[in-house]
Amino acid sequence: MSSNGYSKVATWVDDGDAFEMLVRISLTNSQTANGDAFRTIHHKPVDPDTLSLAITHELRKGRTWQSMGAGVPDVPDSVTWRNGWDRAKYERLQEFSQDWHLNDLRAGCAHQTVVYETDRFGRSVPSLSKTEECPLTGYRYGQAWLVAKLPEEVVHELYELGAVRTEKDWTERKLA
Ligand SMILES: [Zn+2]
Repeated sequence: MSSNGYSKVATWVDDGDAFEMLVRISLTNSQTANGDAFRTIHHKPVDPDTLSLAITHELRKGRTWQSMGAGVPDVPDSVTWRNGWDRAKYERLQEFSQDWHLNDLRAGCAHQTVVYETDRFGRSVPSLSKTEECPLTGYRYGQAWLVAKLPEEVVHELYELGAVRTEKDWTERKLA
């Protein structure tokens, strides 16, 4: 693992170009913890020990960056796995990324079914107007950032996959 927390998980060659996939699994103290204004997706106060998960990747092609950002993109079948990674672990990380990335920045509560619409760029996005309010509380989708607490077993498995724990979040550093 490198000093910035990125770990090389796979390498492959495509049409003469060498590719490298790196991922970073980051657990930080959630900035929503301790804040009275913040609620969980179940409309309860947020525990002070709440963790925020961010899973990001860097895809390198030769000496240039091909893509970087949130999530874990698919890789070809032909990759060589690095640093103890394999297909099963990688797919597990993709599931965690899908289910828990930015778990403390949820626009919808646990009781809402999100209705999607197509925006002017042709992308499928959650609809603020068509998604119905919470039947229990009247919460409107997008009204706040809600927190989905990471289950203990998910946290445990994330550490096994190489999650890095950081005490300070990026906003604190940015403001310093
Ligand atoms: Zn609700």
